[in-house]
Amino acid sequence: MQKYAIAIHGGAGTLVKGLMTSEKEMAYKSALTEALNLGYEILKSGGSALDAVEIAVKSLEDCPLFNAGRGAVFTAEGTHEMDASIMDGQNLKAGAVSLITGIKNPVSLARAVMEQTEHVFLAGEGAMQFAKEQGYTPLDPTYFHDDFRYQQWQEIKGSDHFQLDHSDKKDSKFGTVGAVACDQNGNIAAATSTGGMTNKKWGRVGDSPMIGAGNYANNKTCAVSCTGSGEYFIRGVVAYDVSCLIEHKAMSLSDAANEVIHQRVLSLGGDGGLIAVDSEGNVALPFNTEGMYRAYKLSTGVEEVLIYGKE
Ligand code: ASP
Repeated sequence: MQKYAIAIHGGAGTLVKGLMTSEKEMAYKSALTEALNLGYEILKSGGSALDAVEIAVKSLEDCPLFNAGRGAVFTAEGTHEMDASIMDGQNLKAGAVSLITGIKNPVSLARAVMEQTEHVFLAGEGAMQFAKEQGYTPLDPTYFHDDFRYQQWQEIKGSDHFQLDHSDKKDSKFGTVGAVACDQNGNIAAATSTGGMTNKKWGRVGDSPMIGAGNYANNKTCAVSCTGSGEYFIRGVVAYDVSCLIEHKAMSLSDAANEVIHQRVLSLGGDGGLIAVDSEGNVALPFNTEGMYRAYKLSTGVEEVLIYGKE
């Protein structure tokens, strides 16, 4: 019987265990569990991997704990610029948006780009124009205001520094969100969404909306969603690199994912992790940081919701 599976992440990072209270840990785990189950229910009822990854990412975008959608970090101008992408492994169709503001669920806008246009990637004002034509009304910035994120920004505002939401600063945690899934037909899909980096400027775009860098899906190989220092993930073309190792070196999903995160990304100087699934329902969730918010659920009954490396 075809196995189905879903894996999600809420960002990789150096999570200082001592600063994590059990209440906070429970809040993260329950948000992850909710997103995981929403996606899993779609798969269980015979729905598509594409629908499963979209619904899981939407749920994480709606949760202020994660750096995407509602919890997106502040830019140098005090705004929120969000990036997202989605890819269907069955036909290699993809959609992505970047530098968008006021959109509640950037992943759904990315899906609209894939399904309603002949393009793959829309950015900035043009993407916002497209959103309006699709019937989206940008939300008031107060929807995206979060005191903790605001404080993160105040600490580096006015400087030339920008900061990954999950860098090794004392309070650092959360991050980009993503989901990968394999459905009952053996089709796979990936989706990723982020607010990027605190205090980012000049229209900085990370790996998350870039097909092949932070997100990729191909039924023949794997579906991947990344999190980490985006500049390195772009240079390493990380998500596609996992796919290439499977396609050209006949590696298993787990070997390919581990080689990319623990050797290739590290040797470039990058830190982060990824989640991956293949069309047989195998999953891999490697990271080279101290932790990564992550969860997976398999049709075989195996389910885990984890934050640190060893728990
Ligand atoms: N990869 C994202 C970026 O560079 C950040 C993250 O994973 O949180 O925009």
